[in-house]
Amino acid sequence: TLALDRPATCATAAAEPVPAVTGSALRVPLVTGGSATYANLDHAASAPCLERVRDAVEEFLPWYASVHRGAGFASQVSTRIYERTRNVLRRFVDARSGDTVIFTRNTTDALNLLARSLPRNTAVVQFDTEHHAALLPWRGPHVTQIETPRTRADAVAAVDAALARCPVGPRLLVVTGASNVTGELFPVAELAAVAREHGARIAVDAAQLAPHRGVSVRELDVDYVALSGHKLYAPFGAGALIGRADWLRAAPPYLAGGGASRLVTTDGTRAGAVWNTGPERHEAGSPNTVGVYALGVACAELQHHRDEVLRHEAALLDRLRTGLAAVPGVAELRLFDEDGTDPQAVGTVSFVVAGLDSGWLAAVLSAEYGIGVRDGAFCAHVATRRLIGRTGTEVSQALRVSIGLGTTPEHVDRLVLALRQVVARGA
Ligand code: PLP
Repeated sequence: TLALDRPATCATAAAEPVPAVTGSALRVPLVTGGSATYANLDHAASAPCLERVRDAVEEFLPWYASVHRGAGFASQVSTRIYERTRNVLRRFVDARSGDTVIFTRNTTDALNLLARSLPRNTAVVQFDTEHHAALLPWRGPHVTQIETPRTRADAVAAVDAALARCPVGPRLLVVTGASNVTGELFPVAELAAVAREHGARIAVDAAQLAPHRGVSVRELDVDYVALSGHKLYAPFGAGALIGRADWLRAAPPYLAGGGASRLVTTDGTRAGAVWNTGPERHEAGSPNTVGVYALGVACAELQHHRDEVLRHEAALLDRLRTGLAAVPGVAELRLFDEDGTDPQAVGTVSFVVAGLDSGWLAAVLSAEYGIGVRDGAFCAHVATRRLIGRTGTEVSQALRVSIGLGTTPEHVDRLVLALRQVVARGA
């Protein structure tokens, strides 16, 4: 198990809320629930909670209070933890020193906040295979959705051309780091370089990338990163938008209310406010202090164990791909043609099985084999429909298997064996 340099009480937590994890560990323990026999192959939807996160939250529970709103000890502890967690997130994505960290409910919330904070007439460019959280929030006359090309080089060239056609004014390229359907990575650094040439900013939906790969705002040279705690081995309810502060500082508050306002007055008919200019401008209402703490602890833990996570997942993904390739009728969904066994992919694989309904198959895997996978179109309808179409099967929905820290070789082997057996007996 991990050697953790964890505060004994929340009094020490206030001084050092997200302590550095020390020691070299071989495992990153998870809270795995009641059944050791359940094979959770749905990490891309939500990842199980790290033990370290559970312990930290348990320790914090007696002390949480509303932040920025009280002189009492608990309020001070909470405020300190909350504010320091912004730095944890900054470190997690290697942000620039001036970047802001705004806590949100999740990635969807973060991207909607960004969409509402764009300067007037910002031209938005994106691929059409994005998750709905990244595809739907952008409005206005200058939104361009590019049909995702079949190679990464063509994807970069298509963005180059689309940005060249944008009207003069602010421009934003929105791209996912890793596809939630296929696990494939987008060439974010190359796209960012092209964006720069056109004076555009770039926002990365890192919901699927951040759990599996280090994300460096500085190295990639991107402007915004959005992520979700529940995909990073923390419980639900907290996410973040991290990035350049200027547009966010100038935008109307995401929600109107306490915390966002510095001074409120009324003329008897209408209340008016002087809004804060820091991150709290977009965090009106009592924030999810516990969720934010959990998110921070999870990020610190993942960052500390990044190499282990990579090694663990690379071996399992290889095993999964090899296993699936040998099951008759399985056709994997792929955005990019270029690389048969793509080293540039996180542990998410979607596929169809010729002649078998994916919903039925998922139900059989669950009921008969204790395997949890996802079926459907994964909140990425355009991508999933298109990729299923390319397989030439009659199937309308896909199955998605996603691995993570809770996955074992036995889980992968069980899935492959189950598929072989179900395929052999037919629907
Ligand atoms: N973007 C991607 C790539 C995702 O996979 C998801 C969730 O599956 C989201 C955004 C939305 O995340 P959330 O539901 O946490 O807002």
